[in-house]
Amino acid sequence: TVDIPLALAWVREIAAAVEQQEGRLTELDSAIGDGDHGSNLRRGFTAVLAALDDLTPASVGAVLTRTGTTLISKVGGASGPLYGSAFRAMGAALPGERADRAEFAAALAAGLAAIRKLGAAEPGDKTVVDAWTPALAAFGQPDATLAAAASAAAEAAAQGVRDTVPLQARKGRASYLGPRSIGHPDPGAASTELLFQALARVTA
Ligand code: ADP
Ligand code: MG
Ligand code: MG
Repeated sequence: TVDIPLALAWVREIAAAVEQQEGRLTELDSAIGDGDHGSNLRRGFTAVLAALDDLTPASVGAVLTRTGTTLISKVGGASGPLYGSAFRAMGAALPGERADRAEFAAALAAGLAAIRKLGAAEPGDKTVVDAWTPALAAFGQPDATLAAAASAAAEAAAQGVRDTVPLQARKGRASYLGPRSIGHPDPGAASTELLFQALARVTA
């Protein structure tokens, strides 16, 4: 079951991971983008931590909605609106004080749908979609516990990141490089892996 404390723990775990991995995310974005993905997300999640400290959430969704709204307002890069919309969509899908694994899977699906609606990226375009899509598929396997689903999702996201290496970017700044975007992992896919790793840690 995902309850309000678990949702708070998840977002705080993401914030900690982003802070720890800021340098690596920025390095990845320096190779095929403008080198700000780590600092964009760190700035966003630092603001999220402060916003959550001021929040007395009445639902699981309230935690995620506030997270998304804060990311949209604090992050200028592509990743802010994309992740912000995903968290807002997940928040809207979780109006109760707790959610079971299937309800949480549906919320993750709503998150990915929001990303795809806003960014218009298809799988294979070398974006966050390429980590989020396999993670969601792995999470949704029936009969898994929440912990097993989250751990499978994190592994699938990691594979999704590796699978972005040979791709040519067709969306976002990396697409400006054309074929020179080939041979590097996508930074946004790498940060999506952090989201699912954090979920696996807090549900374990
Ligand atoms: P910016 O590119 O504006 O500097 P960031 O560096 O924070 O923003 O984020 C870059 C990441 O955003 C990319 O690695 C990619 O995963 C993701 N991204 C960019 N454009 C799109 C899009 N249209 N759809 C999905 N993801 C995208
Ligand atoms: Mg960037
Ligand atoms: Mg930028």
